Amino acid sequence: MLFKIITFFLIGMAVLAMFGKLRMPKVKALNARKCKKCGAFRIGKSPCVCERPKT
Ligand SMILES: [Zn+2]
Repeated sequence: MLFKIITFFLIGMAVLAMFGKLRMPKVKALNARKCKKCGAFRIGKSPCVCERPKT
């Protein structure tokens, strides 16, 4: 039983390491999508919140 827990822990660490490597290019892509005016993240091609007319 303890061996199983250790195995799962190691697998979890490996998965986290993989996600850490995959995250790096994604962070750069997110920075490129930041608004030039306020620096907020933009989702897709929709205009930033600061550029949208407030209702
Ligand atoms: Zn903005």
